[in-house]
Amino acid sequence: MAKKDYYEVLGLQKGASENDIKRAYKRLASKHHPDKNQGSKNAEEKFKEINEAYEVLGDAEKRAAYDQYGHAAFEQGGGAGGFGGGFGGGGFGGFEDIFSEMFGGGFGGGGRRNRVVRGDDLRYDIEISLEEAVKGCKKDIRISTLAECDTCHGSGAEKGSKVETCSHCHGSGRIRRQQGFFVTEAVCPSCHGSGKKIEKPCKSCHGDGRVQKTKNLSVTIPAGVDTGNQLRLSGEGAAGENGAPAGDLYVVIHVREHDIFERDGSNLYCEVPISFTMAALGGEIEVPTLDGKLKLKIPAETQTGKLFRVRGKGVTSPRGGYAGDLICKVVVETPVALNDKQKDLLHKLEESLEGKSQHRPQQEGFLDSVKNFFSNLGKN
Ligand SMILES: [Zn+2]
Ligand SMILES: [Zn+2]
Repeated sequence: MAKKDYYEVLGLQKGASENDIKRAYKRLASKHHPDKNQGSKNAEEKFKEINEAYEVLGDAEKRAAYDQYGHAAFEQGGGAGGFGGGFGGGGFGGFEDIFSEMFGGGFGGGGRRNRVVRGDDLRYDIEISLEEAVKGCKKDIRISTLAECDTCHGSGAEKGSKVETCSHCHGSGRIRRQQGFFVTEAVCPSCHGSGKKIEKPCKSCHGDGRVQKTKNLSVTIPAGVDTGNQLRLSGEGAAGENGAPAGDLYVVIHVREHDIFERDGSNLYCEVPISFTMAALGGEIEVPTLDGKLKLKIPAETQTGKLFRVRGKGVTSPRGGYAGDLICKVVVETPVALNDKQKDLLHKLEESLEGKSQHRPQQEGFLDSVKNFFSNLGKN
């Protein structure tokens, strides 16, 4: 059977960049992954093709050979001379690297080298105030996690005890299984991937190399963060088995609701009540900002709901740039708990305004709309 062109398999042209190749591979491999296409022979075949193509095109040396000689470069058996040998020998090499990026590890592929099992990534949800989010802060957190065992320093072996090669997997840490023509690999159940067997396991950690501990950490939260932002603390996740690298800790930000301000991206919003006398005659009010009060001029004849923008009093993104704005919405307050004299004054005011539409800018437009609404209703 004639082999398909590797570039064609990945939907690329011959001169494709390294990044294009990687991207195309990720996209296609994810699409045709057997986990997502249960039992589909077609997808399985496609998946195999994609991996074979990537094994060559994803490796600079093999790719150069392929560009020059085509499939013939790999057809002489025994690893085609000068291309590093092992092509085709280990199922889908080069495969695990990219999948561990995609699925966070744990997928059994590769197998050409001894793969240690990295510790788990952890998530910690933290709640902070709006002020803390805008200005940045330091927070002390406590997490309970698997940490390196102090007794054996992560090796899992008791002091002076011998560490031998695992007899189950002969030190590779992996077990290969044949399923049809598909070869799958799994972490060795006997040594959990370490490839080693400990003669006398450490008593404190039972040979795991890690123990459950409570860690205190100080987290620096940069200014400008918002709900949903994550901070990655590299290596602060769970320790790996038998001294393998630790996972990462992700701190996920949640900003508490604020009594006065509401945030939308880099802008802050607040509602400011003003008296109806001020709305009519104009004046000056104090508005709150995150760094103190500020005077705001209210022009005469201000209607309720009008927005006033105070530039630069919003939030600066953690990536920098300009600060957003503070947007104040004025709300005209209706006076309450009036005494007879005050009511009388309002009646007098109302009488003086009666019948004069120039004092009520919104009334006329509103009445027109109402009239149209009812006449349209009558037509239908
Ligand atoms: Zn130990
Ligand atoms: Zn083993």
